[in-house]
Amino acid sequence: MVRKNRIEELAREYVSVKTHTGTEMERNAEAFFSSYFENIPYFQENKRHRGFYPIKKDPLKRNISWAFYKGQGEKTVVLIHHSDTVDTDDFGLYKDKAYNLDQAKEVLSQGKLPLSKELKEDLSQEKWFYGRGISDMKGGGSIHLALLEEYVQEENFKGNILLLAVPDEENSSAGMRSASYLMKELKDKYNLEYVVMLDVEPHERSDEEKFTIYDGSIGKMMPIFLVRGKLAHTGQIYAGFSPIHLLSGIVRKTELDPQFVETRGTTTTPGPTWLYMKDRKYVYDVSLPLTAGGYMSVLSLSKSPLEIMETLKKSAEEAFAEVIADSKERYKPFKETSAITYGEMEYEPIVYTFDELLSLVKSQEGISLEELEEKEDAIVKGIQEGEFDRIEGSYQWMEYVLSQLNHKEPCVVIGMAAPYYPAVNNGDLPSKEKTDAFLEDFAKELKDVYGMEMEVQNYFTGICDLSYGMFTASKETIDYVENNLMLWGKDYEIPLHLIKEMSMPVFNIGPWGKELHRYGERVYQEDLLEKVPHMVDFTIRKFLEQ
Ligand SMILES: [Zn+2]
Repeated sequence: MVRKNRIEELAREYVSVKTHTGTEMERNAEAFFSSYFENIPYFQENKRHRGFYPIKKDPLKRNISWAFYKGQGEKTVVLIHHSDTVDTDDFGLYKDKAYNLDQAKEVLSQGKLPLSKELKEDLSQEKWFYGRGISDMKGGGSIHLALLEEYVQEENFKGNILLLAVPDEENSSAGMRSASYLMKELKDKYNLEYVVMLDVEPHERSDEEKFTIYDGSIGKMMPIFLVRGKLAHTGQIYAGFSPIHLLSGIVRKTELDPQFVETRGTTTTPGPTWLYMKDRKYVYDVSLPLTAGGYMSVLSLSKSPLEIMETLKKSAEEAFAEVIADSKERYKPFKETSAITYGEMEYEPIVYTFDELLSLVKSQEGISLEELEEKEDAIVKGIQEGEFDRIEGSYQWMEYVLSQLNHKEPCVVIGMAAPYYPAVNNGDLPSKEKTDAFLEDFAKELKDVYGMEMEVQNYFTGICDLSYGMFTASKETIDYVENNLMLWGKDYEIPLHLIKEMSMPVFNIGPWGKELHRYGERVYQEDLLEKVPHMVDFTIRKFLEQ
């Protein structure tokens, strides 16, 4: 079958499979892949070259669908895409039509959902495919699948291809975080050399004539804060210390803080923002809450988690000192007029990283390490059984450890919450010259074949699985993450050592898409059926022949 017809056929079938992220439906992808494997003689004969690799510690028991084509030599290209999509609630009454490209288009064409001017215009031309996941990213996945089908029919194929369809990308990338173990197993078994990882996520484009390629992906981390105050009845408020007041001081100081805005190459990160802040009080009473918690999102390019957390710790200490000073100031008029007073407000700004707190607690006399571990395990069990979510579990763990601390002074604990996406860029690897030279070849091919210009974006800013294609930060950073990310190794982990060992250049070469995660989701047909497959094929062959 002609390549473009095959891609369309695969995409239609793939989209029809419901794989809502973070649900058991994600396992439906396996049936799709089983029939894909069964249709290809190479994979019928080589059953050990494909399969379903279980995700570690996954309550939903999802698997990575994978296929490995062993050609000649050791050089191996890794093709990744995610098999999950967001749900279809956005389609409202028509949510069942979202899994069929024709029906999805029909719903929109008939104006059954509100249409923007741009969407109306696009609908009037036959240039786009519509439907849940067609753009993000079953269309792109179908490009990889169609190419692999072609390669397995080539005799004397130079190099090897590993194709991975990973679950959970829209959630916390459990699929890609486990994929490193599979990659390591195959690497050892067949003595592979991984030369490049290619993702095929869609991208927004301002200029139709400019083809966008990404040679990196933005980093994202979530610092999580637990703040302890001092309990007091509201009538005796000056004897207490409000954790809400303190936490808001920290929020006020760090929200959009330009210290965290980074520019590298063509990319500038937006400042950090708080996603959540709340007291940890569950019922109403007239006391202050004892603790309050919040977490924020920080996007990064070259700053390591260690640097980011150190800066945050300093900001938290400053905010703490300011809140103490303000409180004292505001206490004054009361002290001068009231017959009853509450002594002096004497506090020190105490800020611990989670690692510091845990070490401190463990060093105290009479602490049972077994009990600590049991508590942590119980919390993990609660998360895995769906009793509460990962963030709530993180707070419970921080609270428990803090409650074991001998002193009861107001203090702040800072840790990291999952997920964590390392920032990656090919410029950080020793192969930088090679990848730069490749980009020149890529630009030339685009110009020669399609008359298009190439636009290199140094970071895919939508956050994607390429974050786990390399890890270039120091061992010190790995230790820091492992010691400060909540419930690390029990509920959430990233094999950073493995990723560091297998580090390879990464590129995202995907189609033009619009309105991802919304009912207007669409992908540009020409990109999906012709340009992207051609350019991905060009890239694969370039890296395998080098
Ligand atoms: Zn995606």
